[in-house]
Amino acid sequence: MREAVEEVRAVYRDLEERPAERDCRARTECCRFRLTGRTPQLTGGEALVAAMGWRAAGRKSIDPAAAAPDGACPFLADSGRCGIYRDRPFGCRTHFCAAAGGMIERHRVIDLIRRLEAVDESLRGDGPKPLPQAVAEALERLPKRSGRR
Ligand code: SF4
Repeated sequence: MREAVEEVRAVYRDLEERPAERDCRARTECCRFRLTGRTPQLTGGEALVAAMGWRAAGRKSIDPAAAAPDGACPFLADSGRCGIYRDRPFGCRTHFCAAAGGMIERHRVIDLIRRLEAVDESLRGDGPKPLPQAVAEALERLPKRSGRR
């Protein structure tokens, strides 16, 4: 599990090193899945990292069934901030809204996507799952006293 988490974080670092002209103003519409019509799909490693970030924030669980009317992400705080910003999934780093400049083209990050898929396989995952379900399962999988790093 540790190697998987380290590889996912390495993927996120590598993504940050690829300049993309985007201008996110934190409108948070992309974090309200009923507005966007799409729920982020997480591979197993992404879900583990997100779950660790949530745990590090002192939270123990999420309820995948407790959806807000606008389908807000369970990590979206009332303040409009992402509760796991440093550990947010790959899609949250690449799927910018149109106002921010749009999604980063898949061909520019396909190698990183493949690495996340390889991590998923190493965890015996069965492919990407919707964010709430993926993270709820990952939280169950984490050791009870899992640290941040
Ligand atoms: S993980 Fe964070 S950035 Fe991604 S949808 Fe949820 S609140 Fe938004």
